[in-house]
Amino acid sequence: MRNELSVSSVTGGPLVPQHRELVTAIPGPQSQALMRRKEAAVAAGVGHVVPISIVAAGGGILIDADGNSLIDLGSGIAVTGVGNSAPAVVEAITRQVQLFTHTCFTVTPYDGYVAVAEKLNSITPGDHEKRTALFNTGSEAVENAIKIARSFTKKHAVVVFDHAFHGRTNLTLGMTARNTPYKNGFGPFTPEIYRVPTSYPYRDGLSGAEAAENALLQIERQVGASNLAAIVIEPIQGEGGFIEPAPGFLPALAEWATANGVVFILDEVQTGFARTGDLFAANHERVVPDLIATGKGIAGGLPLAAVTGRAEIMDSPQSGALGGTYAGNPISCAAALATIETYENNNLVGRAREIAAIIDEVFTELGASDDRIGDIRGRGAMKAVEVVHPDSTDPNPALTASVAKFAADHGVVVLTCGTYGNVIRFLPPLAISDELLREGLRVVADGFRTNAPTSATKESQS
Ligand code: PMP
Repeated sequence: MRNELSVSSVTGGPLVPQHRELVTAIPGPQSQALMRRKEAAVAAGVGHVVPISIVAAGGGILIDADGNSLIDLGSGIAVTGVGNSAPAVVEAITRQVQLFTHTCFTVTPYDGYVAVAEKLNSITPGDHEKRTALFNTGSEAVENAIKIARSFTKKHAVVVFDHAFHGRTNLTLGMTARNTPYKNGFGPFTPEIYRVPTSYPYRDGLSGAEAAENALLQIERQVGASNLAAIVIEPIQGEGGFIEPAPGFLPALAEWATANGVVFILDEVQTGFARTGDLFAANHERVVPDLIATGKGIAGGLPLAAVTGRAEIMDSPQSGALGGTYAGNPISCAAALATIETYENNNLVGRAREIAAIIDEVFTELGASDDRIGDIRGRGAMKAVEVVHPDSTDPNPALTASVAKFAADHGVVVLTCGTYGNVIRFLPPLAISDELLREGLRVVADGFRTNAPTSATKESQS
């Protein structure tokens, strides 16, 4: 009941009616017109998932220019946890925008930046003394975390994992695992990045301790602690397929890093801010990183990202070494303070757990009768199903794409991911109602039923 109330206060009531309704085919004529202009004006490398023209959004609904209302199961890739244009965020932004829009914090500082730093220092894992530096994007945060770790350790090497995604700048692209579409043609990447096996319970069948032993063996053989500045890992790998490591994997890596003078960096850009049913995913196993990179859900849709961590590490680069023209923009900071308050005051951590239970219920039921659902995993409102061919664990990207297309055609925006392109991921706004969530999931489940294998394809696969 408490969450029912909090959800409606987050969504802002009647501004965006909370129901799915299609009045044209998807995409409708207005959306098609925008797509034609887009193709003529925007670089082809900037793709899109669903070719519609958004004019308003709130709660769990996106409204397009043709008057269609679609259910949002993606939150603009895990950003609008509090919902689009959440009332508290709009109010905070409006107040700030009337005062001043920019000074550049490294020219003349202001309160909002410091207040965000204080807040992040208090809510991120660990009760040690911390410092924060603000940036614009997740990639920039991860890249700066590495600069800081190198400055502190006076070492160069960085270890990342199979299936990792850390961003699209040159350094973070080098850390990202997947070639197409992210890396292809963009090399050379920076040296001193080493990739080791992750923990992928569905595919490696290893316990957390076994997977950690594998990874650490590779690190010791290929890099050596004396050369290693940092280990960087997503506590649940996002773009790589919502891969949740086996229990014990992350704590074992963190423990080894601490014992070996290596900075342990958690990339919580996608998992952070209530998304996984805790304020940060590290909390599930009580892992305390030396540095944590955050972004996405931090500011209700405004661009902001952060690195927070141990004071002695964060204070290592000299004054002037960290920053950026827009880093910690005052409007983004005002939005972040209101957003974080909204997560806290509306128990959106609890809401993420409720969302997890609903997703589990729908897909466990479907999976019982459909063996193309190979795995259901993730935590909180960061859940996914891995789609495989019948009677096997072979990835099935074609079915994954068909189900996502079916959903979009029926007014549900759902994202896919995974190194093999075979994972349907659910990242609904935490402000979505139970009814909308269930309806959206039902449409996705219908996508599986509509694409049911014929007996011929079943035979050919087995
Ligand atoms: N790290 C992770 C774990 C991410 O999921 C992303 C974005 N998908 C990034 C870094 C990069 O963030 P941004 O797109 O804001 O640069």
